[in-house]
Amino acid sequence: MKIFSEFFRLISPAPPATELDSIEILSHPMPILYRRHARARNYVLRLHANRTVVVTIPRQGTKKFARAFVASRKSWLEKQWRILEARKAPAHDLRPGMEILLHGRPVLLEVRPEGNGWELQAGPERAPLATPEGNLRPALECHLRAAAKSLLLRRVEQLAQDHSLKVKRIVIRNQRSRWGSCSCQGTISLNWRLIQLPEPVRDYIIVHELMHLRQLNHSPQFWSEVAKACPDYRAAEEWLKQNSGQVGF
Ligand SMILES: [Zn+2]
Repeated sequence: MKIFSEFFRLISPAPPATELDSIEILSHPMPILYRRHARARNYVLRLHANRTVVVTIPRQGTKKFARAFVASRKSWLEKQWRILEARKAPAHDLRPGMEILLHGRPVLLEVRPEGNGWELQAGPERAPLATPEGNLRPALECHLRAAAKSLLLRRVEQLAQDHSLKVKRIVIRNQRSRWGSCSCQGTISLNWRLIQLPEPVRDYIIVHELMHLRQLNHSPQFWSEVAKACPDYRAAEEWLKQNSGQVGF
C-alpha cells in the first residue's frame, strides 16, 4: 500500500474548468510540474516535500487531462500535505506521563522500579530501562520494533494460511512513508508501526499485501479479492485516513 503516490488508470478525460499550472493546497499555492514519460502507462501524481506537485503523463496522455486529474485529486493532495508536514516535525522526546497509540488505543508511558533497575510500561508492553531519567524514545522504539516483529510474523503466517497463500519472505521495516509492500518475488514487507494500529486495520493492511500475491496491481480484480478477504476494508481505509497522524508518536 503506497501512501505517497497513487496510480490511476485513464478513465475519461474531462476538460478543466480553468488553466491550472499551480494549485492551492491548504492555502499554500503549489506549482504543478508536468513530466512526460514514454514508458508510463498511467497518470501518476506526487507531492514533493519542496511543495511541488508533479504529474507524470503517459505516452498517449494529454496535458489537458493531467490538469483535470490534478484538480480532481485535491483532497488527496491535502492529505499528503498534512502527512509531509507532520513528518517534518523533529522526533520529540518521550517522557513519563505522555501517551502513545498502541494497538489502536492511547496508552500512558510509565516508569517503575523493577528488580535492581527500571522498567518502562506502555499499556501491555514492558521494556527494561537502564535509567529512569531522560528520553524514553530509544528504549520504547527498540522494544516495540521487536514486539511488532514477532506479532506481525505470526499474523502474516496465520492470514496467509487462512487464504491459502504462500509467502516467500516477510520483512519488518522501519519506513516512514509506507505501511507495507509486496514484491513480485513474493516478499511481504511491513512497517513495524503497524503495532500501533487497531487489530482490524492492521489485519486489513496485511490482507491487502497478501492479495497482491494474486494481483500485483490495484485493478478492480485486486479490490474484489480484498473485499472478499476483508469485507470491512473500507472502514479500515477510513480509519487510516483519519488517524495516520497519530501513528509514529
Ligand atoms: Zn496495494
